[in-house]
Amino acid sequence: MKRKIITIISAASVLAGILFFIIINSDSDEYRVIFFDVGQGDSILIDGPENFQILIDGGPDNTVIQKLGQYLPFYDRTIELVILTHPDADHVTGLVEVLERYQVKTIMDTEVLATNDAYVRLRELIRQKSIEEIIGQQGKELRIPGEGVLKVLYPIENVSGREFKDINSTSLVARFEVGQHSFLFTGDLPKEGESELISTRQSLKADVLKVGHHGSKYSTSPAFVKAIDPAIAVIQVGEKNHFGHPDKSILELLSDYGSQVVRTDQAGDILIDCGNLRVKTKKSIDSN
Ligand SMILES: [Zn+2]
Repeated sequence: MKRKIITIISAASVLAGILFFIIINSDSDEYRVIFFDVGQGDSILIDGPENFQILIDGGPDNTVIQKLGQYLPFYDRTIELVILTHPDADHVTGLVEVLERYQVKTIMDTEVLATNDAYVRLRELIRQKSIEEIIGQQGKELRIPGEGVLKVLYPIENVSGREFKDINSTSLVARFEVGQHSFLFTGDLPKEGESELISTRQSLKADVLKVGHHGSKYSTSPAFVKAIDPAIAVIQVGEKNHFGHPDKSILELLSDYGSQVVRTDQAGDILIDCGNLRVKTKKSIDSN
């Protein structure tokens, strides 16, 4: 009898533990944006209330799977929206495994012509799994839980099926707004694209800028920084990469402008609370 009671009590406490985990992990009514440290590449998670998630790019390998496992509750196997900014390997590769392992409801992609293995496989999976597709171009606007809005600002035209010499120039640029704050995600858009974007007179103002092209000198013109006026600039870049990213001139430009610069090669994963814009880094979390 005594043993039975102990069994019941321990089963109940396990259950209570699971319920507690579910309660604390769901629905904070607030968004956070996590810039994953995936080495030399981009992968960003917008994590919202009601277990709503947007994943922007997948990085150069399968590190993104480990990151999603770390930040999503174990029972959440659905990603509501995946956005591919452009199909270069350091952005698309990890998404293949994401589509294999998670239930992805919708994918937004410019559908620009590209023939690398990862992108070809991604397109196959989209077909096989009948994932809903949205062609990303200026004017697309999605309303998301908790009064969030995601607006596509670039490319200006539909580039679906078209071939480009410089695929970076087709990067999907999106502005995410929630509450009082906004984030600008720029993929690897070069300076020419930035000028074009400025000339559209769309509002570029954002509290947080995902710095274009891993901080290379081919992106982030002074006029672009001025139009965005970011308090925080995040650079997703690999430690000791062969490209010399981020470029010194870009770091100087951003700090002269007064932006707080945070880099994944130095800080690890970067978490920004969308309510108060507090920046936490993987390293500061580990040392707590
Ligand atoms: Zn890139």
